[in-house]
Amino acid sequence: MRIVRNYTLGAWRDGTGGFVPLVDPCSEEPIAQASSHGVDFGEALDWARREGGRTLRAMSFAERGTMLNSMSRALSERRDDLIAESVRNTGTTRRDAKFDVDGAIFTLAHYGQLGVALGERVCLLDGEGEALGRSARLWGQHVLVPLHGVAVQINAFNFPAWGLAEKAACALLAGVPVISKPATSTCLVAEQCFEALVGLAPSGALSLICGSTGDLIDRLGEQDVLAFTGSAATALGLRSRPSLLRASTRVNVEADSLNAAVLGPDVETSGETWDVFLRDVEREITQKTGQKCTAVRRILVPRERVEAVQAALIERLSSVVPGHPDHASTTMGPLTTASQLADAQSGVERLAAAAEIVLGSGRRVDGAGSAPGRGYFFGPTLLRARDAAGDEVVHTHEVFGPVATIVPFDGGGGEAAELVARAGGSLVSSIYSDDRAFLGEYLRCGGSSSGRLYIGSAKVAAQLPGSGVAMPQLLHGGPGRAGGGTELGGMRGLRLYLQCVALSGDRALLERLTGARHE
Ligand code: NAP
Repeated sequence: MRIVRNYTLGAWRDGTGGFVPLVDPCSEEPIAQASSHGVDFGEALDWARREGGRTLRAMSFAERGTMLNSMSRALSERRDDLIAESVRNTGTTRRDAKFDVDGAIFTLAHYGQLGVALGERVCLLDGEGEALGRSARLWGQHVLVPLHGVAVQINAFNFPAWGLAEKAACALLAGVPVISKPATSTCLVAEQCFEALVGLAPSGALSLICGSTGDLIDRLGEQDVLAFTGSAATALGLRSRPSLLRASTRVNVEADSLNAAVLGPDVETSGETWDVFLRDVEREITQKTGQKCTAVRRILVPRERVEAVQAALIERLSSVVPGHPDHASTTMGPLTTASQLADAQSGVERLAAAAEIVLGSGRRVDGAGSAPGRGYFFGPTLLRARDAAGDEVVHTHEVFGPVATIVPFDGGGGEAAELVARAGGSLVSSIYSDDRAFLGEYLRCGGSSSGRLYIGSAKVAAQLPGSGVAMPQLLHGGPGRAGGGTELGGMRGLRLYLQCVALSGDRALLERLTGARHE
């Protein structure tokens, strides 16, 4: 059987035992196996810090940007192969695989362009400098310089290409080498991305671990970074490791999120805002079979519109066909693993205690083009909260699948914001309204509960990408339960890998030193 390899110390390495099978989610047949046994994590870290860090820091932003641009092109040249691998490994439809692969290509190119625009400078200014003494001579200036450690980047199973690329782009542009650890279940795609990328980065800048992280995490020190995406439970275990706490190692977490779509009371049941709301919600429930951290889990609807929204969503979601990605009628792939299927089934059971299932069975279904009884297929499932504001479980239990619950509300933006905040922190909230008073009240009363607020209104309806798209220009991350992390957001995404240093001294000297003024 095919073995997924690790890439450390500049070479591809097979694991030496303890292999974990990767399974085709449509047939449940094993397709490959992965293991990191035999990898010496101490050596891998030393090599990345020594070789990769030194070489990356010697490069200017423009050089690192050029490197990211060439990485983007390399993935683009292999796009068809990557999409095919993603379809096979994750069971996703071609369209959903493209979303992942194209996201990786686009994000690398975006950071490549940012780097090129920064030019030959070697450090970044953080804000304006200011006078500290009686005269303007004694000057203060904050600068951002790269950490001298390694970025260990752990990704979730759902975006094996984009997750890898978006994290790596920020660290590499900042000048910090990367050890990437994809979720084992979908690491075939990550391995293939790496095949395209490793030759383009300097020696030591990129390493790949497919399987367990062994003692890697406990070896991280004060100049290293741990960037994690996955469940809140794993995040808690990782961020509370004594070794990380002792060394104050930076830990960034992107975790669970019960994102909400809110329909404003001003939106009539026809018109562009209504249409874009329905289109977005349908997409955010079904894209990647709902296995997106940014997927819509709660649909907040003014009470008088609940029947109309429910009927319209049932009509749209009823035409979704779960099945094998190669089958002509399939519009949605299976869940990725057996445990995701088990979690989705038990999750809907939990929600059903507080909400009525109005579409779907909450159980596994047969997939079009797949053998009966085989595959982790799960149809779109719509629920409607029984209680006015929705029972606690509706706001707190994330089902990582094509599942969402309609929650009625009566009041204005303040009540909607309060309901959204009951999730304890979200990655994104989408709000569909053209009413400035409603939007303003929402922002004032609950703006801080989501990392991103996506406003769907008539004037931008035609250009909206969907609330689930994490664009490199905008912050990805949310407070509280969503992990408290910050990724992307243009140059903000580099901060995790840069140390802010307050410089003080002679103004002319500082300005020459930092590139604020040229000779
Ligand atoms: P998970 O079990 O927490 O796994 C996530 C990653 O952590 C995988 O690479 C996994 O590797 C690794 N991992 C697990 N235990 C570890 C440990 N003790 N030490 C080091 N690494 C460890 O999450 P999941 O169930 O696969 O992913 C689904 C969850 O992720 C959902 O709850 C979803 O909300 C969240 N998610 C969040 C975002 C976001 O951006 N906020 C994006 C996607 C998903 P193995 O595969 O080898 O176990």
